[in-house]
Amino acid sequence: MSNKQFDVVVIGAGPGGYIAAIRAAQLGFSVACVDEWSNAKGGPAPGGTCTNVGCIPSKALLQSSEHYEHAGHSFKEHGIDVSGLSLNLGQMVKRKDTVVKQNNDGILFLFKKNKVTFFHGRAAFGGAAGAEGYPIAIAGKDNETINAKQVIIATGSNARALPGAEFDEKLILSNTGALAIDAVPANLGVIGAGVIGLEMGSVWRRLGSKVTVLEGLPTFLGAVDEQIAKEAHKLFTKQGLAISLGCKINSVTKGADNVTVEYADAKGEAVTAVFDKLIVSIGRTPNTNGLGADKVGLALDERGFIAVDGDCKTNLPNVWAVGDVVRGPMLAHKAEEEGVAVAERIAGQHGHTNFDTIPWVIYTSPEIAWVGKTEQQLKAEGTPYKAGTFPFLANGRARALGDTSGMVKFLAHATTDEILGVHIIGPMASELISEAVVAMEFKASAEDIARICHAHPSLSEATKEAALAIDKRTLNF
Ligand SMILES: Cc1cc2nc3c(=O)[nH]c(=O)nc-3n(C[C@H](O)[C@H](O)[C@H](O)COP(=O)(O)OP(=O)(O)OC[C@H]3O[C@@H](n4cnc5c(N)ncnc54)[C@H](O)[C@@H]3O)c2cc1C
Repeated sequence: MSNKQFDVVVIGAGPGGYIAAIRAAQLGFSVACVDEWSNAKGGPAPGGTCTNVGCIPSKALLQSSEHYEHAGHSFKEHGIDVSGLSLNLGQMVKRKDTVVKQNNDGILFLFKKNKVTFFHGRAAFGGAAGAEGYPIAIAGKDNETINAKQVIIATGSNARALPGAEFDEKLILSNTGALAIDAVPANLGVIGAGVIGLEMGSVWRRLGSKVTVLEGLPTFLGAVDEQIAKEAHKLFTKQGLAISLGCKINSVTKGADNVTVEYADAKGEAVTAVFDKLIVSIGRTPNTNGLGADKVGLALDERGFIAVDGDCKTNLPNVWAVGDVVRGPMLAHKAEEEGVAVAERIAGQHGHTNFDTIPWVIYTSPEIAWVGKTEQQLKAEGTPYKAGTFPFLANGRARALGDTSGMVKFLAHATTDEILGVHIIGPMASELISEAVVAMEFKASAEDIARICHAHPSLSEATKEAALAIDKRTLNF
């Protein structure tokens, strides 16, 4: 029997892969998507890291833990007295698992709707391309070889372990274990004060852990605009996150039910800290395991990412790669944009991913979101700019919400007034940043935003006011 033949085979059903598959199917191609992720019952769990152990479950737990914190600390101010408040962690985790399952099932539904054939198993290149395309061998629940005229690799990334401290997901946790802790640890250590470390640290602090975050770099959130990062450090510290910068980890040793971390602090002094559990969030490595890259001569770069050009083309004809497994920010929406662009390029269209307007979000409380250049970047490149900020303290909706921390900050070109960057720390920053992304895509000026009518009372008025602040014309501050 001859192999099933597809125009496009996508390897990996994370946000990069499943979106590429759907877009390719919309464009009229016969498409298969192969993914190996299994749920607890052994069934398919498409959605990748994002859906299973990343974006979605972390946001579910962030939401639940924030409700818990509000019930314990903020309801009183609203005139709501709560007695007998208690945490049902089992239910919280169960809800998170349900949200994940809804997303897994949603993707399977979308595959059916768009006539994408889904295979549950690990895909590997079976050899070089022949007349029928590339043979792709699938091993797992489904076991067969299919042929692909075009291949899109979207195999994602894995958590990076500290040398000598492998993840056991019981005491030393990656994101996977950090999202499935079954009892609130009294004393939680987090190595790495990046997005994942801060989000996970926030969840467990809100649920009652004493959280210590150890960061190797001397600056807090170095990629974030300095003014915003300083504000975040102040607020997170006030909330109770103990953040130590400039730490050098010397050893991580597992005991029977704890983990000892020996490190030198910023002053070089030796510190020994014992934690009930340790989350290690020091970055992620591209996942090309078992893909058979060497069998077909697929080129990787020096850091192990699949080498691609600006169009996500690999060194092999008709083989593309998108998402976390290639260069660029490890973000779900970046993976999705690349997936769409590649499907469109295969169809002869001109798909494009604009790296300059990819928004970043940290879903802490307050949230942090930004797009474009930071003030320190503009200074370093010598671009003349004006800055304008507006605090949520002066925003009526934020006051009504009882969430007035943070600000919106605009950076615009000093002579053309083009918006160069927008940085937000505050309530719903993740939603507010979209306006700035749209504005920057349309090359808007700060004046454009300042002249647009924003609903009152809304948090978005802070965005308009920050744009007005560029010319020192705020109306409410
Ligand atoms: C805790 C955490 C929180 C995060 N939060 C956010 C967030 O809020 N917003 C955001 O934008 N990003 C977030 N991210 C990052 C985001 O999850 C990734 O950028 C995104 O998942 C990358 O998508 P991808 O499609 O490239 O890869 P992945 O989502 O990793 O998917 C890859 C898929 O390929 C499958 N696979 C791999 N090899 C094979 C093979 N050989 N055969 C078959 N299948 C294979 C894997 O099983 C997996 O399902 C978070 C990450 C973590 C860890």
